[in-house]
Amino acid sequence: MPGGTGARRAGHGGEGRYIERRVEVKIAKTAGFCWGVRRTVDKVMEVADQSSGPVVTLGPIIHNPQAVARFREKGVGTVNAVGEVADGTTVVVRTHGAVKEELERADGRGLEVVDGTCPYVKYPQAMAQRLSAEGYHVVIVGDANHAEIKGVVSFSEGPCTVVKPGGPIPEIPAKKVAVIAQTTCIGADFEAVVGALALRHKEVRAVNTICNDTEERQADARSLAREVDAVVVVGGKNSANTRHLAEICREIQGRTWHVETEAELRPEWFEGCRVVGLSAGASTPDWVVEGVASWLRALRPQGAP
Ligand code: SF4
Repeated sequence: MPGGTGARRAGHGGEGRYIERRVEVKIAKTAGFCWGVRRTVDKVMEVADQSSGPVVTLGPIIHNPQAVARFREKGVGTVNAVGEVADGTTVVVRTHGAVKEELERADGRGLEVVDGTCPYVKYPQAMAQRLSAEGYHVVIVGDANHAEIKGVVSFSEGPCTVVKPGGPIPEIPAKKVAVIAQTTCIGADFEAVVGALALRHKEVRAVNTICNDTEERQADARSLAREVDAVVVVGGKNSANTRHLAEICREIQGRTWHVETEAELRPEWFEGCRVVGLSAGASTPDWVVEGVASWLRALRPQGAP
């Protein structure tokens, strides 16, 4: 449990009594599972309960090690490729989607596939396919190594370039370019790429594929960071949207910590803090958010004036 300087003597009218001062914890309205993740998690649980054969997810179902561990307890395994799956297995496609060729491979083997891809991830996949078929060079603002982007790239039927947010924008030998974004992209990064390309190419088509949940969560985190003395952002270290939240909060409130669970928290991080904000990524389970919130609520202000 967190330590601290403990109780303080009460002021006017409180002579002889001691009051317990606790740190106030403000939780962002949007903290925890987003609609898309909740939908996929429910789907996995439903399939696990109903299936008589083995069930696996194609890649970690969501980017949260604690949630993946719970699935394992339910007997749901994780594979990285259809080639690892035995016949008769039910394959659940994760929230971030899968590479088109892997889906075709599963189909070719007659495996039962349950599509858990978030509909907001299916949108950039569909746009990459449609715009490339219309002759556009597709530009995706996002992380080329992220599963979502690998999936989106695989749906493009022509040349496709992934531009890292905030990174250099390469020369693209095409008259027509279409720009889409990773669902978790920061709006300003998407805008910067669209603006730069608009000055270089004859035709630039921009399709905003950023998920509303991401924008709301980021706006919520920004206003939270302005109101508190420190921020804790909870979620997988491998979760892009959680990392973005931490970056956004850190720009406003330097005392921002990104943790996966309360086990990583240290009382000295909150020295002098009266109010601590708590935000969490879209893939962070409620029970993990609650674990961190309880730890913070038990914290007593250290060195506060
Ligand atoms: S953040 Fe948006 S795109 Fe990602 S899983 Fe949630 S609802 Fe879907």
